[in-house]
Amino acid sequence: MQMLAMDIWAAIRWARRYRRCDNPDMRDDFPASVKDELAKRVGFGCSNPGCRQATSGPQEGPAGTVNVGVAAHITSASEGGPRYNPDLTPEQRSSAINGIWLCQTCAKLIDDDVQRYTEDKLIEWRSDAETAARRALEQRKSPPTESDGVFLEAQRLMPKLIDEMRTDVRGDDRELVREFVVLAVPTIGYSWPRGHSVYTEETHPTLQAQLAWLEVEDAGFIVGISNDPGFAYRIVPEFYRWLQSA
Ligand SMILES: [Zn+2]
Repeated sequence: MQMLAMDIWAAIRWARRYRRCDNPDMRDDFPASVKDELAKRVGFGCSNPGCRQATSGPQEGPAGTVNVGVAAHITSASEGGPRYNPDLTPEQRSSAINGIWLCQTCAKLIDDDVQRYTEDKLIEWRSDAETAARRALEQRKSPPTESDGVFLEAQRLMPKLIDEMRTDVRGDDRELVREFVVLAVPTIGYSWPRGHSVYTEETHPTLQAQLAWLEVEDAGFIVGISNDPGFAYRIVPEFYRWLQSA
C-alpha cells in the first residue's frame, strides 16, 4: 500500500513537470491550505499597512461567511506576470513563502504598479502584518514599534514636520477635528472654521513634497479636504493615534 502511494506521487510529479514543458502558461497557484495559512497568520486583515481592512465576516443569517481577501503572489504565479522570479521552483512559487494576504483592492494595486510594490516591500508588509497580528493576539497595548514601518519611514524622511505634528496633536479637542492647513508664511488672523494646526512652507521648505508623500505614498496618512482659501488636510485616525503615542 505504501509503495503504491509513492508511485502515485511520483506519477503526479512527472505529470506536473510534463504539463509545465507542454504549457508555459501554467500557473503555480496556491493550494487552499496555503491560502488558509496566509489569512490566519495575519488574523484575516489586509497586510497593506495603510489599509488593514478586515477580509472575513458573517453572511446575513445564522450561517455562512463572506471573504473579500486574496492570497496574492509576491512573485507571480506564471511567467510574464508581476515580479516573476524564474529561479523559484513551482513548489516554492506556490508555497506560503511567496504569498501575502491582501484585500481585493490592494491585491490589484500591487500588480498594477510593480515599480512601487517591489518584492522587498511586500515581504516587509507581510512581516509587519504578522507582527501586528501577534501583538493583537497577545492583547498588548504597547506603543507601536517596529511593525509600523511606514510611519517610521515618514519620520525618517520628514522628522521636522512629524515632530511638529506630534506636538500639535496632544490635545483632546484636536482629535475630533484632525485638520490642518498649509500656508506659505505664518499669517496673522488667518482663520479656518474649526480647530486646526497650521504648517508653513517657510518653516518646511519641501512641505508640498512631504504632504504629497503623506497623502499618496503607501498609506494615505492625510486626506485633502479643501484647496480654497488655503490647502487643508485631515489626518487619518490611525496616523493620528500613532502621532499621539510615539
Ligand atoms: Zn487592503
